[in-house]
Amino acid sequence: MCSFSSLPLSPQFLKNLADMEYNAMTPIQEESLPAILEGCDVLARAKTGSGKTAAFGIGILHNINLDRYRVQALVLCPTRELAEQVTAELRLLARYTHNIKIMKITGGMPLRKQQHSLSHEAHIIVGTPGRVLALLQANSLQLNEVSMLVLDEADRMLDMGFIDPITEILSFVPQERQTLFFSATLPDEIRHLSKKILRNPRSVSVDEHHDASVIEQHFHEVHPQDKGRALMALLSLHRPESSLIFCNTKEGCRTLGEELMGAGFHALVIHGDLEQKERTEVLIRFSNGSSRVLVATDVAARGLDISDLSAVFNYDLPLETETYVHRIGRTGRAGRTGLAISLMKPVEKHRLTLINEFLSGNYRLEPVSYSGVKETQWFEPPMVTLSINGGRRNKISAGDLLGALTARGGIEGSQVGRIDRQDYITFVAVKREVLPQARKILAQGRIKGNRFKVMVHEA
Ligand code: ADP
Ligand code: MG
Repeated sequence: MCSFSSLPLSPQFLKNLADMEYNAMTPIQEESLPAILEGCDVLARAKTGSGKTAAFGIGILHNINLDRYRVQALVLCPTRELAEQVTAELRLLARYTHNIKIMKITGGMPLRKQQHSLSHEAHIIVGTPGRVLALLQANSLQLNEVSMLVLDEADRMLDMGFIDPITEILSFVPQERQTLFFSATLPDEIRHLSKKILRNPRSVSVDEHHDASVIEQHFHEVHPQDKGRALMALLSLHRPESSLIFCNTKEGCRTLGEELMGAGFHALVIHGDLEQKERTEVLIRFSNGSSRVLVATDVAARGLDISDLSAVFNYDLPLETETYVHRIGRTGRAGRTGLAISLMKPVEKHRLTLINEFLSGNYRLEPVSYSGVKETQWFEPPMVTLSINGGRRNKISAGDLLGALTARGGIEGSQVGRIDRQDYITFVAVKREVLPQARKILAQGRIKGNRFKVMVHEA
């Protein structure tokens, strides 16, 4: 564990990190930040949730010249959602750097609007390749003073077919620059691309093996037709606060979601076919405690910043052992013990030998005890999500909502959970028992003088 104070950062910046409760560097930060702050190109591999954003974020903020209103850093991310997360984290890191302008450029809002905001130039742009390129081609974005370029989740950007837009964006950015390349995996295409765009890079890579020791792992042999029942028995037995359940296909996610719901297990499903709006809603509801279970494919789960998962289930065993390690690494974070449970069909049994070899483990197949599924009552999620049709753009703040809910003997502050604001909608989680009351307050009262439509987001 290494403290941030070993880095050449200002006292004010260090204080902000302490306020954010970033008390020590994560391993990838420890490995990459010295090189980043020295100005070297870096190729970094580390799994999701390892703190890559702050690694490049601190590097960027260290280098920005605030007096120069020109884009000096460009961060490319694969999805809108990730661009949103990165922007939010950069803003937190820059909390005490007033007058810094960080702008997000993603699809989904009218091009014109973005062209307008760009006329008041930003210091830092975070965006998705497609939209950034569109603005460059429309001549609405100048990147000729960019001195830092970050490719975040590079492997995923390649998976999504962004190689051409990225290559084209590169032609708008000065050759003389620092480039940081972050990826969860380093397949050949990524190495190939990184060779083309990095100069004498330092390679850093944080091994995932260490984490396995804090994760309790179980492997159960189950016939394909019993998998749903086995999963429910295991959920009932372990009662994890929150679980991510992996299926190998979208279709599998859908079917399993229906099976769980049919049996009275509240579950949310996320896969690549959902529209952005639906994805956002699902993620918000899962992270605010309105569902204990999220069923996902690898692609949909990659890069999601869901911390504090109590358990990961491999409903379908992944095809690669590396993917197995990657999936289970989402539990057992922040010093807590995690739980990873895998269902193996009889034809998959032999894969346990490979997993054991990979992890230097000695795991054995266990039978499933079906006596666990008694009542699903405990399974009821603690929170439920409401939304109003007003958000950031309507100047609604989290405080406005909390104020409305708790005013005049309404409900207690402790009964209100996370409030997530989007541009035109705000989600608020409340304890299930105060749902009727919360709904009434929001539907009948006014917020900032306006009435809003209220929706309850139930299964
Ligand atoms: P990655 O991009 O590697 O998937 P993130 O940058 O999204 O990971 O970080 C995952 C979580 O860890 C975030 O919630 C972030 O705020 C938190 N985090 C990052 N660095 C630190 C740190 N040094 N100490 C504590 N928490 C941290
Ligand atoms: Mg990230």
